[in-house]
Amino acid sequence: MENKIVVTGGSGLVGKYLKKYLPDAIFLSSKDFDLTTEVGVRNMYLKYKPDIVVHLAAKVGGIIDNINKPAEYYTENVMMNTLLVDYAYKMNVKRFIGILSTCIFPDVMETYPMKEEDLHLGPPTMTNFSYGYAKRSLAVQIDAYNKQYNTKYQYLTPCNLYGIGDKDHESNSHFITALVKKIFDAKQNNEKSITLFGDGSPLRQFMFADDFAKIIYEVITKDIYDNFNVAGEENLSIKEMANIALQACDAENLEIKWDLDKPNGQHRKDVSIEKLKSLLPDFSPLKLSEGIKMVYKSYYDKISK
Ligand code: NAP
Repeated sequence: MENKIVVTGGSGLVGKYLKKYLPDAIFLSSKDFDLTTEVGVRNMYLKYKPDIVVHLAAKVGGIIDNINKPAEYYTENVMMNTLLVDYAYKMNVKRFIGILSTCIFPDVMETYPMKEEDLHLGPPTMTNFSYGYAKRSLAVQIDAYNKQYNTKYQYLTPCNLYGIGDKDHESNSHFITALVKKIFDAKQNNEKSITLFGDGSPLRQFMFADDFAKIIYEVITKDIYDNFNVAGEENLSIKEMANIALQACDAENLEIKWDLDKPNGQHRKDVSIEKLKSLLPDFSPLKLSEGIKMVYKSYYDKISK
């Protein structure tokens, strides 16, 4: 019999792409169940009785929202993760795949890139401190259940993701999607410049959300149970990424102004992808300029409908 797969956070950025790879899975949003509540989690498991849970649901947002609402980021994520893993075990779920984020790694390390086992070697950066600890707790919980109950649950740790249909409001969006939206709006309004947070020096790894969705699919179909980091080969400064985006969107005449009153965020958080490459040697992520062109085109498609 086919495995029944439930995807929490199925209406989010990654979930929308994962549908392409797992068309028969059940994709849930917060409208189906509030997974921060025990009644919501219990009802979800009782209704679907899944064999496999891909847990994408999270309270996710940009740097300003994380700074302004640390309590919400902590409690909503801790509640969702704690309840979903515990009920997975109680309901005999065979596989549970939790999603962390590279922004939960230590703020500063002596050596980069950071390996999977470096996760607990220092506190996460202050700009997403409560989100960082909430997400780290998911790793601690999954490790603990595997140890005590012999479950084979796992977590994947992706870098910054972007894609079509991502949130693009400045307060809760991710950098690349917000950048493309700013370029698009500036061109539409014949503006001469765009303004970005900080000084452009922080380094970031990035990945098109479709590539990450494909990795989740391969982990399931190839029976890979390891915990591993997910990122592309490049680690670029925000300034370099902004210049790539201007080129990709045919907007090289736009000036970039840097808002030094806004935070830079963590200076770097690059993770090692040696484990990813050994597990999935054929994996080849989309180039940043290609992904940006697709996101940019999606904004034109939206207004020309
Ligand atoms: P997203 O677009 O923000 O989507 C979040 C999803 O979680 C939505 O489906 C949302 O449902 C659901 N959700 C939020 N609160 C909920 C609640 N109380 N009950 C039930 N569902 C709830 O997230 P994403 O970008 O796809 O991220 C997927 C995963 O990857 C997350 O765990 C995130 O931490 C991780 N991640 C993301 C990035 C990134 O750059 N995007 C980077 C690293 C790691 P509604 O649509 O109904 O609100």
